[in-house]
Amino acid sequence: MFIGHYGPAVWDTQRGHAKPIIKLWEAFLAVQAMDLMAGTLVMFGIEGTRLNAAGDPIFHVPWSHSLLSAVIIALVAGCLYRLLRPASGKREFGIIALLVFSHWILDLVVHRPDLPFYPGGETLLGFALWDFPWLAFALEAGMLGGALLFWQKVTTPKRKTYDYAIWALFLLMVAAHFAFIVHQGLQVQNGTFDITHAPPDLVLGLSFLFVICLFATLIGWIEKGRPSKFA
Ligand SMILES: [Zn+2]
Repeated sequence: MFIGHYGPAVWDTQRGHAKPIIKLWEAFLAVQAMDLMAGTLVMFGIEGTRLNAAGDPIFHVPWSHSLLSAVIIALVAGCLYRLLRPASGKREFGIIALLVFSHWILDLVVHRPDLPFYPGGETLLGFALWDFPWLAFALEAGMLGGALLFWQKVTTPKRKTYDYAIWALFLLMVAAHFAFIVHQGLQVQNGTFDITHAPPDLVLGLSFLFVICLFATLIGWIEKGRPSKFA
């Protein structure tokens, strides 16, 4: 999953109240913590893509995307948050950890079987919704759109710009998703996907990290112009 991961990012029990527990941009990074790790490992050729027995491309992400890794990354991210934000407590820890872990659950739905229980485990999990790229695309865009709509409703823009900006970001994210996931998925169905033409590891990993950080930066900027409606 890609943009659908951002759906749970608005999940913060206080998001609809005066003072959300964590910032939305922090949540944007938390839900992608596992992919931030994957992008880093892709840069060094440790993780990446490969073809499964049926000739379909799957991810080779044993370190960043095993179930055990997801639990560990969630706990580490929670601890890191508490270190970086000394005023935070158990609630912040819990929300960050849950958001990080939500990534694994959502990946489980869309990935072709490529998620092990632990790094190197032979049983690979994934319900393969990406085999139906348009359906998966609708689901992911719907999750992101629904989350942004909720967030728009519980905040007030300081200027109209911050209303347009939400939906400009939405379109940018949908376009990125189409380019990375749907287009690739359709190529797979047509049997034309050529994994040997993927960009070099360093470019692929870096661009992935860049896109995730870009989305977090943009939502952080919009967030500054959209205080809570209940403040
Ligand atoms: Zn992932």
